[in-house]
Amino acid sequence: MAFTGVYQGIDGAHSKLVLDSFFQTKGVEAQSSGAPTFRQVAINVLNGKADVGVLPIDNAIAGTVREGYDLLAEYELVPIAEVDWRMDQRLLGIPGALVEDIREVEGHPLILEECGHFLGTLAGVRVIPVEDTGVAAREVAESKDKTRAAIGPPEAGKIYGLAELAANIADHPENYTRFLIFAAPNAREEVLQLGGATPEHRKTSVLLSTLHEAGSLARCIDILAEAKINLSKLESKPKLGKAWEYLFYLDFEGDVREPRVAQAIAKLEEYTQYLHVIGSYDTHNATQRGIRGDALPAINIDRTSSNGWKPELMPASAKHWPKAARTAHPSGTRIKVGPVTVGDGEFVIVGGPCAVESRDQVIETAKAVKAAGAVMLRGGVFKPRSNPYSFQGMGWEGAELLAEAGRAAGLPTVSEVMSIDQVEGMSRYIDVLQIGARNMQNFDLLKAVGKVNNPILLKRGMSASIEEWIAAAEYILAEGNPNVILCERGIRTFETSTRNTLDLSAIPVIRERTHLPIMVDPSHGVGVRRWVRPLCRAAKALGAHGLLIEVHPNPAEAKCDGDQSLTFADFRTIMRDLSMIPTGDELERVPAIAE
Ligand code: PEP
Ligand code: MN
Repeated sequence: MAFTGVYQGIDGAHSKLVLDSFFQTKGVEAQSSGAPTFRQVAINVLNGKADVGVLPIDNAIAGTVREGYDLLAEYELVPIAEVDWRMDQRLLGIPGALVEDIREVEGHPLILEECGHFLGTLAGVRVIPVEDTGVAAREVAESKDKTRAAIGPPEAGKIYGLAELAANIADHPENYTRFLIFAAPNAREEVLQLGGATPEHRKTSVLLSTLHEAGSLARCIDILAEAKINLSKLESKPKLGKAWEYLFYLDFEGDVREPRVAQAIAKLEEYTQYLHVIGSYDTHNATQRGIRGDALPAINIDRTSSNGWKPELMPASAKHWPKAARTAHPSGTRIKVGPVTVGDGEFVIVGGPCAVESRDQVIETAKAVKAAGAVMLRGGVFKPRSNPYSFQGMGWEGAELLAEAGRAAGLPTVSEVMSIDQVEGMSRYIDVLQIGARNMQNFDLLKAVGKVNNPILLKRGMSASIEEWIAAAEYILAEGNPNVILCERGIRTFETSTRNTLDLSAIPVIRERTHLPIMVDPSHGVGVRRWVRPLCRAAKALGAHGLLIEVHPNPAEAKCDGDQSLTFADFRTIMRDLSMIPTGDELERVPAIAE
């Protein structure tokens, strides 16, 4: 039995890729055709010109696609399945064109919104909304004009013979759109069954506006909570024609055929002025086009800029570290630590004390750094100290306290292991194991952490060359642990004004030679509290994937590294500074200055 489907646009549109991929996953024969507008897609399904249609309803960057939801409601169409689609946005131009030559960029309005940041970096470029991605690509191709470009997926580039001038240009690499595949209310049974029949993995979408009474939205949410219905989306949009009245777009887990869902919806009616159940649908089609969190290709396809990377630029010594070399994983490694991702496309802050000193100290610091925006907690419990009479860390008791503080604040933890016998135990308490500068070439220790599952933060040795540091990472990778984060923390030079010399030039070198994430520890790098702040800003702009910063509730009383530890207020200031600074990746999307 062959099916027919309709999407908005022409060949090359994201919607067409979504629809074709849906049919393909279902293993059915099908034919798809384009319609000029979202509304026409809905009408063609309603009129029986196509069995199913596809419309976007939500984007991870730009939010609700109101027209998608509204048309489904207006024509009482029946959603059958959701497709969660990675929007792979590339800048497509005439072969031979350069990003810096572009004067006009065309794209679908929703897509222009997803790529706002990138477009903002193209000074003097006119941004032109067009009805569809395929049309944008076709027009640019037909014009043969090297100053024009379109935004679209790589497939659109191939169809119309366009070159990819830049990749991964959405405001965030985790750029997904939820599309709904829907049918007409009187659709044939086979069509409705395309959604799958499993009662699990179903979601329901509703539109509602609440009564003008105090607490009515809260009551609606309570009704869902009481029925143990997990709300996955709640967004409001202005109600057309009624200034300052809002319509709420809700999605929740479950199917209207389940009694608990049906009862909750009946109760919702008491507290709403308007309630429309769009319907329940299968979400089993999960994420198409790769797994959520997979790396996308690196930013610049055209790697001719000074910051770009070319395989032929790899030094001959790279043959000694084949696993760490950029050539092994050109797109850049992304490492998951609980809910956090470190690496390509990300910038993360790890904050916490040099050493765990007491329960109160570490919990208070954890909560403060979390509130300021840190995503991981650091704290040494086995401390490598130059003087044997200095505080050596709280040991295992400290590890327990760090883990407790991490749980209390909801932050994964980072802590150093100094010897092989600590590795196994620490791997159970702590999320990321740190190898300190003094142990960077403790090869037996490197082999030991290569055998655990935890990500490893490998500090640069204080007199290690970049090559030796990458070779140390290779020891860990060679044992089977692929999750190594490098951390520049300053090297010993003749300079005595700063504790070490923070080698920020290591950032572009490491990024070119390896695929591993590179973080920077400005605290140990400079050793002086007031100089930590400017170095944080610099590291972010240079392309570091994150920072490791020492923070203490009362640095004057700290048992170690008080001089370089930030107060909570200092830390907040730095977090605010950083929010205003683009990452190195974002800066590199700006075209090079013409010679
Ligand atoms: C630390 O992070 O507390 C530490 C001891 O670092 P390093 O090994 O870089 O001196
Ligand atoms: Mn320290």
